[in-house]
Amino acid sequence: MYIVSSRDDDELNGLIINTANQVTSSPPLVSVNISKKNLTHDHILKSKVFSISILRKDTPMNFVGKWGFKSGRQIDKFQDTNYKFAVTGAPIVMDHTIGYMDLKLVSHLDVSSHTIFVGEVVESEIINDGEPLTYNYYRDIKGGQSSKNAPTYSGWADKPKKDSEEKMKWVCGKCGYVYDPLAGDMDSDIPPYTPFSRLPSGWVCPLCKAEMDQFSKLD
Ligand code: FE
Repeated sequence: MYIVSSRDDDELNGLIINTANQVTSSPPLVSVNISKKNLTHDHILKSKVFSISILRKDTPMNFVGKWGFKSGRQIDKFQDTNYKFAVTGAPIVMDHTIGYMDLKLVSHLDVSSHTIFVGEVVESEIINDGEPLTYNYYRDIKGGQSSKNAPTYSGWADKPKKDSEEKMKWVCGKCGYVYDPLAGDMDSDIPPYTPFSRLPSGWVCPLCKAEMDQFSKLD
C-alpha cells in the first residue's frame, strides 16, 4: 500500500492506494488509479507532479485511517507528518515509509469514475529495509477495509461466520472497519482471540476513532 501525494501551489494533499503498476522500465513509468472525487486527483491534474511513498508493514491503523479515510478538504493531512519536497516539487510522506518515487505526469486516461495517471520516475530512494504493507495483510490480518472511493470497494466486507458469539465480527458504523476477534487489534495491544465483548472500555475504532457503541454485529 502506498501514499500518493501532490500539491496545488501551497495546498498539499495525499491519499492511500493499494496498487501501483510499473508500466515500462525505460523510461521508468508507473501508473496509479485515483477516484475523481479525491482532492489529490485534482492536484495531480493541476501540478502534473506526484510522489508515491511505500508504506511499511507495521504502519499503524490510525495512520492508514488518516490518509485513507479522511478528506484533505476537511483536514490538513500533512500537519504532524514528516515530509519533504521532491525534485519535482511534489511532497513526499516520510513517516512509516520504506521508500519513495518522485514522478512527473506524462499521460492520463479517463476511466469513468477514476483517472489512471502515468508518471515518469524522476527520483527514487529506499529509506530503510522494512517489509512493505500489502493490501492482503492490511485487510485479512488487520481487518482493514477499502475506502468508498477505492476501485476495490465493493460494499462492506465479509460474510459472517455462523459461529459462536465469541468469534463474532463487529463492524464500525462510521468507517466500515471490521473487528475480527481472531485477529485482535495489534495497534491497541489487543491480542488475537479477544471477543468484542472483552475489549477494554475506552477501546475505539483503530481507523476512525469511533467508540464501541458505534459498532454492530456483522450479520
Ligand atoms: Fe471506524
